[in-house]
Amino acid sequence: MNKTDALIIGAGPTGLFTAHQLKLIGLDCEIVDNLDKIGGQCIELYPDKPIYDIPAVPECTGEELTNNLINQLKPFDIKFHLSERVDEVKKDTDKWIVKTSKGKTFSTPNVIIAGGVGSFEPRKFAPKECEKFENKSLFYSIKDKKIFEGKAVTIFGGGDSALDWAVELSKNSKVNLVHRRDEFRGAQATVDQVKELEKSGKINVFTKFQLSKVNGSNEIESIDIKHDNNEIKNIETDYLLGFFGLIMQLGPIANWGLNIDKKTIQVDTEKFETNQKGIYAIGDICTYPGKLKLILSGFHEGALAARACFKLARPNEKYRFEFTTTSSNLLKRLGKKSD
Ligand SMILES: Cc1cc2nc3c(=O)[nH]c(=O)nc-3n(C[C@H](O)[C@H](O)[C@H](O)COP(=O)(O)OP(=O)(O)OC[C@H]3O[C@@H](n4cnc5c(N)ncnc54)[C@H](O)[C@@H]3O)c2cc1C
Repeated sequence: MNKTDALIIGAGPTGLFTAHQLKLIGLDCEIVDNLDKIGGQCIELYPDKPIYDIPAVPECTGEELTNNLINQLKPFDIKFHLSERVDEVKKDTDKWIVKTSKGKTFSTPNVIIAGGVGSFEPRKFAPKECEKFENKSLFYSIKDKKIFEGKAVTIFGGGDSALDWAVELSKNSKVNLVHRRDEFRGAQATVDQVKELEKSGKINVFTKFQLSKVNGSNEIESIDIKHDNNEIKNIETDYLLGFFGLIMQLGPIANWGLNIDKKTIQVDTEKFETNQKGIYAIGDICTYPGKLKLILSGFHEGALAARACFKLARPNEKYRFEFTTTSSNLLKRLGKKSD
């Protein structure tokens, strides 16, 4: 069981800055995110787009903002638990017991939900039997491309991820690319590359087809794909990859006994606490009169929630407000020398 002063759910901009605020006032924290990378919407949805309304930063992309927030955390040792969804939050006397999808357990007096619009989940294949092959021979993201070497791989999707992986895996695998439409949505240069590889027999392309059946008991042996005109083709394959984009789901957060209103969590504006003592909601996921779904609001909300955590994590100490410019305590935590 991991013990921490505060557990943050969500490594988007709000969760990241809140970790800074917690560490600055001397509290421990750990961060769990369902994504395999840090940055939330900024990194998943618009890494290259410039943002113009971060205070004192005239212009930066989603990726630059994320990197700056990560840099700001450098003085501190923060444990990230990525590719893990928080599934359960339950009360145990004066602590919250938090469980993740990978079976990790945390005990903490403070849970800070910075879950944005919910967890990003891959859109999945429709046939029911796909579930039993998931993470064995059927994947929605690639962690280790070596497992596909010398194997037959069938990739579904028409966007950049599907096309990029089709090109990459065709170097060492037999690749089939299946898309339900005639036109691909990816970058034209990659579409052209796929067409070249199709001509030279390195990739088999099937358009206007969708997955209708997966055959095999423990491992995938073949799949049936169905054309718009109902024609069925059988393809022998070892692996299936689906790149249909991500959907955002409030997911398990809906089951933790919190006041939820239109997929957001109601909080007060003093501590950003929910209807459960010691559970806070900040950033896009919280709601209160006048809430603005902007990154700058999440920063303010996180700063106040962090101070509220202090009371429950250090019940016998008094929190003292200090500036980073002048407090020797804070400067020490930041690894800086005071004058
Ligand atoms: C295209 C676009 C452009 C934008 N431009 C601007 C702009 O110019 N300026 C601006 O201020 N804002 C902008 N925004 C909005 C801004 O991105 C959001 O306000 C901000 O990302 C909210 O941050 P957050 O940390 O609250 O949530 P998010 O960034 O959504 O991060 C939440 C994280 O929580 C994780 N999570 C959720 N549930 C769980 C769970 N149960 N277990 C584990 N992890 C979980 C998710 O995987 C996600 O990574 C834009 C948004 C979009 C989509």
